[in-house]
Amino acid sequence: MLDFQIILEAIYKDVIKSKNKGTVASYIPELACVDKNNFGVHLRTLDGKDYGVGNFNEPFSIQSISKVLALSKAIALNENNVWKRLGVEPSGNPFNRLSLLEIENGIPRNPLNNDGAIVIADILISHLKNPKEDFLNFVRTLTNDYSINYNTKVAQSEKNTGFNNYATTNLLKSFKNLENSVDEVLDFYFHQCSIEMSCSQLSKAFYVFANKGTCMLNKLRLTESQTKRINAIMLTCGFYDEAGEFAFKVGLPGKSGVGGGIAAFLPDNFVITTWSPGLNKKGNSKLGMLALEQFTTKTKQSIF
Ligand code: GLU
Repeated sequence: MLDFQIILEAIYKDVIKSKNKGTVASYIPELACVDKNNFGVHLRTLDGKDYGVGNFNEPFSIQSISKVLALSKAIALNENNVWKRLGVEPSGNPFNRLSLLEIENGIPRNPLNNDGAIVIADILISHLKNPKEDFLNFVRTLTNDYSINYNTKVAQSEKNTGFNNYATTNLLKSFKNLENSVDEVLDFYFHQCSIEMSCSQLSKAFYVFANKGTCMLNKLRLTESQTKRINAIMLTCGFYDEAGEFAFKVGLPGKSGVGGGIAAFLPDNFVITTWSPGLNKKGNSKLGMLALEQFTTKTKQSIF
């Protein structure tokens, strides 16, 4: 029987010694204020046992990790619409790559790059009565934690400097793959990315993907086939242009964000989340990836 607490503590002690902790994202100015020395790891088993080390209870900006939650909500609302407007192929490009090829015929390659996530934001706005409020409530219900909130300073900070996302969204609009206005969609998208959660809250939110589509309190039900699809997209597209490297080194589906978080899981077993704000050159958390690689190597718990 594996003692997860002892394993996480050993990994933490080793990884925290790394001299190169990566670089904190600064293209969203508000994110640059975060202390690079934060490091937390959390694991939740499907039978609800929690293990944590370091800053695993401290909230941080989940950024792109929110794209998986938004995708799940859009699929739960109207799956057909999602696959009419988006592809499912990895792009091999950075998250914010803006090119006419990437958005071929106005159809983004997948829902986890910015262009695809912006189309998902548009779908949610069209389906939800009070989009920002309803989406936040969805995340709160999924985690059974009503303290989760937007960080409006981070959302505003991204709005001030999000020229690339404005360009992408205008391009989508010109291809008629956007029902709502550019400003409305980006306001939702910037808020969605600004949600703050801790590793332990993220472990609860991602429980649904490890548990064949049923969340802890039975409040979100995705079918097994929908869950399989979302999980496959995480494995192939969840780590920017480093998804191959992540599968190679770690071997779990998951999603990273430029706030330095990573949520990954082994279906039917556990969710493991890490937070360390320093990023590597591809935009993934440097220590987070190291810790996860050590974890699946030591425990031999990966999908392969
Ligand atoms: N809000 C960020 C952006 O759109 C998310 C980036 C990320 O975490 O990958 O640039």
